[in-house]
Amino acid sequence: MKCKIIKFLAYNKRVAVMCIDSTNLVEEIRKIHDLSPTVTAAVGRVATVATMMTHLEIKDETDSLTIQVKGNGPIGSIVAVSKLENKKLANVRIYAQNPHVELPLKSDGKIDVGGAVGHQGYLNIIKQNKLTNGNYNAVIPLVSGEIAEDFTEFFAKSEQKPTALALGVLVNKDGVKRAGGYIINPMPDATDEDITNIENAIKKANPISEMLNKGLTLEEIAKTITGDNNIEILENDLDVSYKCDCSKEKIKQGILSLGKEEISKILKEDGKIEAQCHFCHKKYIFTEKDLI
Ligand SMILES: [Zn+2]
Repeated sequence: MKCKIIKFLAYNKRVAVMCIDSTNLVEEIRKIHDLSPTVTAAVGRVATVATMMTHLEIKDETDSLTIQVKGNGPIGSIVAVSKLENKKLANVRIYAQNPHVELPLKSDGKIDVGGAVGHQGYLNIIKQNKLTNGNYNAVIPLVSGEIAEDFTEFFAKSEQKPTALALGVLVNKDGVKRAGGYIINPMPDATDEDITNIENAIKKANPISEMLNKGLTLEEIAKTITGDNNIEILENDLDVSYKCDCSKEKIKQGILSLGKEEISKILKEDGKIEAQCHFCHKKYIFTEKDLI
């Protein structure tokens, strides 16, 4: 699919930076779920940060990352599940409970992501390893529902990692024009001057989706947001694809959780149980013999 994702080092390796142009991924997600522009912006931001976190925090192909954003707004839950297919390629899948929600633009002309997600609620991040059954689970209250602020809080509170994070999706009724994001992580040896330089650079910079829309490359964006013209590229061959690994067996587990009584009731009425994968809309049909 080709999204551009680049890892950089700034200020003599004292600061790590990741930039992503996730336009193609977010447009594919919009089409799969027929998302409204408002939900495209919200889901696109979550998919963009999920992709970056997968490349930054997931080390093993048996690890998976689950992100749930559950606010009190009309979108309901947004759920993203991701893993590494290999060291260079992340697989992401995502859905929103109510894909067609549309809210008026805010007074500043921006899409009201916080209003659609809801200003109250929680962000749940789960990292799981299939082999060791290792499980990391963090739940933090939403700050604003605008997604980037909520994840910045997560990195600060749950991971004690000072992080500058930006996410942006430029979308209209015809589709996604530009989507992207960046994460800046000062290393322990970063100086106060490095941090001040970065803070000033971010203040001066345009939003990420606007920089992409103006045709800036990720390298130019990394220089702009760090204020360091001597950044070095650490990795520039990372990518992401939308991939669902649902199967009849996995969907069956979900149906079995309905309980015997409910299952026999539906079978009696309809003769079969139809279930659809939330992430890819594939339909599965179960008859009595499938569920015994
Ligand atoms: Zn699926």
